[in-house]
Amino acid sequence: MKRLFALSALLMYCCVTPIQAVEFDVLRHQMVQEVLSDLAETSKYSGGSSIFGPHVIAALEKVERHRFVPTSQVSSAYLNRPLPIGNGQTISQPFIVALMTELMQVKDDDKVLEIGTGSGYQAAVLAELANSVYSIEIIKPLGEKASERLRSLGYQNVKTRVGDGYYGWQEAAPFDAIIVTAAASHVPPPLIKQLKPGGRIVIPLGTQFMTQFLMLVEKMEDGSLTTRQILPVRFVPLTGGH
Ligand code: SAH
Repeated sequence: MKRLFALSALLMYCCVTPIQAVEFDVLRHQMVQEVLSDLAETSKYSGGSSIFGPHVIAALEKVERHRFVPTSQVSSAYLNRPLPIGNGQTISQPFIVALMTELMQVKDDDKVLEIGTGSGYQAAVLAELANSVYSIEIIKPLGEKASERLRSLGYQNVKTRVGDGYYGWQEAAPFDAIIVTAAASHVPPPLIKQLKPGGRIVIPLGTQFMTQFLMLVEKMEDGSLTTRQILPVRFVPLTGGH
């Protein structure tokens, strides 16, 4: 009986796991197709990108979103939707992750900063494209869990920290691009300071109860800023003491 149990456990391990992995690959590919069709829809009226670069698509195809959601959400991991990740927070919709990543125009020698680590998924997508990723989360249990997850998945080029991202990560500045994944009432001045000339900040602006807009802020070589409104979005609020 014991042996039979051991055998079935072994079968479960060697047979079920690979099949599930293949299913996840298929589901992830379908998710990417949905993200692409969402782009075709929204680019008609938004000032956003009308195409996603091949590297952004490859990163979405690669990063296993099901590893970034709680067990109760694994079956929904490849829906093109935001999902709860605990502590009242959410992992962003894959389309929004793709759009924000595209707007950042990350190059492979870039150093980028993320405010709002959450599950670590966006950081992992950025880690596929950038040289190094710095990510700050204000909720300690989320930040610690994401840090452990990214480490166990082998993302050595991501550094995380628990703290208030409003103030950026001064010791690691300047950054080539900055992404804020929670809605703020304004662009935090410390982030503008920590951005290289020629760099970009992608940030949702607005309050929790009013329409928020995804904004692209570019810092010109002379230090001046240009701001472009991309599309209406809905994010959890940027919290903290500022
Ligand atoms: N990028 C995340 C999604 C994050 S949701 C992902 O891929 O899963 C937004 C996150 O921003 C939440 O986890 C929230 O706790 C965090 N946050 C809110 N205000 C913050 C602040 N001032 N500094 C750092 N993180 C903050």
